Amino acid sequence: MTDTILDRCEAAGLRMTGQRRTVARVLEASSDHPDVEELHRRAAAEDARISLATVYRTVKLFEDAGIVEKVDFGDGRARYEDAEREHHDHLIDMATGEVIEFVDEEIEALQRKVAEKLGYELMGHRMELYGRPLKGTKARRGR
Ligand SMILES: [Zn+2]
Repeated sequence: MTDTILDRCEAAGLRMTGQRRTVARVLEASSDHPDVEELHRRAAAEDARISLATVYRTVKLFEDAGIVEKVDFGDGRARYEDAEREHHDHLIDMATGEVIEFVDEEIEALQRKVAEKLGYELMGHRMELYGRPLKGTKARRGR
């Protein structure tokens, strides 16, 4: 990844007000998958005047411009991550809500094969796995 979220907002022609810059900075600094309320908490730490509605609208704007991606971990809350991050899938620990990111080349290859069989070139996919730690084993982090 070369360009920051702010760079990409400017390249997309978005009018970047001070508050939008704050939201862009907060997203840039986030390596997890915050929802809008969490983004608002982080943004408010920088600018106490920023409202939840502003954060909501700004994230939606960034999403529509393809700068951030919405992810859904099955609890009905929209979470966001930088759309330029390297491809990965998610495993959600159902007990703790912890999100583990992983890449599995076999799954990647299998999905390409399925798409080809159906006559398509695979351009992307999204996958969320839901699990509980196996008894008697220590859950392993994907990466
Ligand atoms: Zn992720």
